[in-house]
Amino acid sequence: VSAFADVPLAPPDAILNLSTMYKSDTSDQKVDLGVGAYRDNDGKPWVLPVVRKAEKQIADAQLEHEYLPIAGLKSFTDAAAVLLLGSDNPAIVDQRVVSFQTISGTGANFLGATFLSRFYPKGTLVLLSDPTWANHKNIFNSASLETQDYKYYDPATLGLDLAGMLSSLQDAPSGSIVLLHACAHNPTGVDPTQEQWKRIADVMQAKGHFPFFDCAYQGFASGDLDRDAFAIRYFIERGFECSIAQSFAKNLGLYGERVGCYHVVTRNAAVANQVRSQIARASRAIISNPPLYGARVASTVLNSPTLLAEWKDSLRFMSGRILDMRAELRRLMLEKGTPGNWDHITSQIGMFTFTGLNPEQVNYMVKKHHIYMTKNGRISMAGLSTHNVQHVAQAIDDVVR
Ligand code: PMP
Repeated sequence: VSAFADVPLAPPDAILNLSTMYKSDTSDQKVDLGVGAYRDNDGKPWVLPVVRKAEKQIADAQLEHEYLPIAGLKSFTDAAAVLLLGSDNPAIVDQRVVSFQTISGTGANFLGATFLSRFYPKGTLVLLSDPTWANHKNIFNSASLETQDYKYYDPATLGLDLAGMLSSLQDAPSGSIVLLHACAHNPTGVDPTQEQWKRIADVMQAKGHFPFFDCAYQGFASGDLDRDAFAIRYFIERGFECSIAQSFAKNLGLYGERVGCYHVVTRNAAVANQVRSQIARASRAIISNPPLYGARVASTVLNSPTLLAEWKDSLRFMSGRILDMRAELRRLMLEKGTPGNWDHITSQIGMFTFTGLNPEQVNYMVKKHHIYMTKNGRISMAGLSTHNVQHVAQAIDDVVR
């Protein structure tokens, strides 16, 4: 008899399961609005031209494949910190930012969770927005941290429940860790305004909460890297120490290369050294040292003024296509006179729209119309194109009526 005979069967991962169903669907009308990956107007993955150029430079340079240091490729992690904080940020100038290369955003969240679980007081709660990226709870719980929800999304307005959020933060134990989506909140597409971030910072400062930013979509929300980093820079300016999990999966289209960083902004350079030494121990146990190839690609782009400028064009292009699809989907809903208010399609931001469709309606979208989307009513806007937006609008109209 197997030692694992009593291992209970875990439920399949909702998103990955959806991809499998999509692939085995033979309808020529099928549309994949599940996974959060950018697609071009023909539904194809898009390799950014700057990535192709960087890859060619790397191939031509005939580099070696030696191990990286535990903290990763320094030319990459330094440039990644500058991208988040701005080169003139006092935290960078004062050398109080600790940066480690990670296995994309997921690895950054996990490394941060591991570090905090060791050095934050035992029993500290991690507060997660309701709803949040499905993996957050899984990650923090895996690192032995307990999680609790804070109010975030208001189904009635399909927008931010600011009052609810502030009172959740107020009511939580002082000194909690608060996971904040830096921009392009997943899954709701609802971000606080700059004014609302200030109110959130006020409460967090009064309560001594620790901000843990998850930044998986910088440049994807507004098309502007600096604007999308507003919340992070603002909290640092207010004097917070904080953690940042950074992913280059979406904004550089390096999904499978697993390119990311975990940063801690500390009070001073001496504390930064202490923190760095302990994160090094933690990361050594998990991955020993991070993978080289994707970091080289990102470093090549981030450190070349020409490629950086071209990347910014691509970001505006990708986010622009998504904005066009938002406008077109909303226009079609209004044209059809579909019951309900569809303003949220254009007021929500980033990769996703929270449509407001309920699980039963979603089921019809999938079964009857071959449109694959998550049960919570989220659609990935990057899966829409001029070829399929009509069909999607028609299907939403059908399931709502
Ligand atoms: N955080 C959020 C909020 C995300 O949406 C994602 C991607 N789905 C990630 C982190 C991490 O993604 P990756 O590990 O591919 O960088």
